[in-house]
Amino acid sequence: MTAPSHTTVGIVGAGPAGLLLARLLHNAGVNCVVLESRDRAYVEQRQRAGILEQSTVDVLRASGAGERLDREGIPHEGIELRFDRRSFRVDFPALTGGRRVWVYAQTEVVKDLIALQLADGAPLFFDTEVLAVEGPDTDSPVIRYRRDGVERTLTCGYVVGCDGFHGVTRRAIPEGVLRTYERTYPYSWLGILADVAPSCDELIYAHSPRGFALHSMRSETVSRLYLQVPNGEDPQDWSDERIWDELDARFAVDGDWRLARGPITSKAVLPMRSHVTEPMRFGRVFLAGDAAHIVPPTGAKGLNLAAADVVVLARAFTHLKESGKTDLLEAYSDTCLKRVWRAEHFSYFMTTTLHTDPEQSPFTTRLQLSQLDRIATSPHAAAEVAENYAGLTIG
Ligand SMILES: Cc1cc2nc3c(=O)[nH]c(=O)nc-3n(C[C@H](O)[C@H](O)[C@H](O)COP(=O)(O)OP(=O)(O)OC[C@H]3O[C@@H](n4cnc5c(N)ncnc54)[C@H](O)[C@@H]3O)c2cc1C
Repeated sequence: MTAPSHTTVGIVGAGPAGLLLARLLHNAGVNCVVLESRDRAYVEQRQRAGILEQSTVDVLRASGAGERLDREGIPHEGIELRFDRRSFRVDFPALTGGRRVWVYAQTEVVKDLIALQLADGAPLFFDTEVLAVEGPDTDSPVIRYRRDGVERTLTCGYVVGCDGFHGVTRRAIPEGVLRTYERTYPYSWLGILADVAPSCDELIYAHSPRGFALHSMRSETVSRLYLQVPNGEDPQDWSDERIWDELDARFAVDGDWRLARGPITSKAVLPMRSHVTEPMRFGRVFLAGDAAHIVPPTGAKGLNLAAADVVVLARAFTHLKESGKTDLLEAYSDTCLKRVWRAEHFSYFMTTTLHTDPEQSPFTTRLQLSQLDRIATSPHAAAEVAENYAGLTIG
């Protein structure tokens, strides 16, 4: 299939943000085209997030992509915090008026959305690298891309950059307009997938003198676990036995709990970063998802923020189609940034409360433990964690 030369909304990137936006626009009768630099298999296998907020589940269901999620997704009603060899459960429904989260991997969300789109959705082109977005402040911005070794253009009414942190769309916003806010962290995560049933029913977030650890899961037979490691760590330096021993030490708790071991099928190091780009719109070019903001994964917000952005954007394009008014498009950046900054703060809070900075003083460690104790003993403090984790209704 050849790509058209004109569309109403040109979408750069077929990650969760681009695919979900395309689905929502298609359902609303708004023309769009999606251009993705990688091949389908790569996009569908890329291991990333695994926790969906209730509002993300609701929008996936409403968009028609909820069938397998309802069958295979695992609802979770809380998380466990471990510190000082004790544990505390944050009960989401009790603290939030009934909200919960779902374990359903990003890979599966992406597979479901791609299948729908290829069956009856807007045109989606893999192996199509966008080189630049030009004319953001004109009435017809242009996407310049390369496909099959040939450079072509797609003229658009609007362009949405859903091309992640390393994408090219952000460069269309002039330097004098663009503001970035950034923080890097002095540690990374070593993430593993293991063919073993999870040793817990809900996620465990562990603060330990040896550093942070997280026990998550992908399904009833696959565990996903993370260890805080120094920046620049080589996963090859971590034998399977070393990983399991370290996880055992960091999850240690009084009482009898055992971490089940199994074959490790994947090891990767993930750096931690907070980053916000403002504004998220310039002229007729919009940024959504990781193209506009990055959070460290401790708060499980990245994928959910991407979904929230495109819901706001789809509503604005639908409103334009129905009323001819651009007011919601003009408000897009301000509307999204309220949620983005809340999620940035929560992700920063979870990260700095649970990890051990290599330079950390004993004073800071005592502050962290005091904060965790406060969450465990005050329903107000626990509710603050539960509301943010399960997802706030903003925008
Ligand atoms: C390694 C890793 C692990 C993560 N783990 C977690 C986690 O455990 N929990 C959590 O909540 N979040 C996690 N995240 C964050 C979460 O996965 C992201 O927030 C989410 O993927 C954002 O979706 P997106 O569609 O905005 O961007 P992406 O998923 O990055 O998608 C962008 C798409 O654009 C394409 N693209 C880029 N440049 C171009 C171009 N020039 N032309 C055409 N296409 C282009 C890319 O190939 C990609 O398919 C993780 C992120 C990473 C990188």
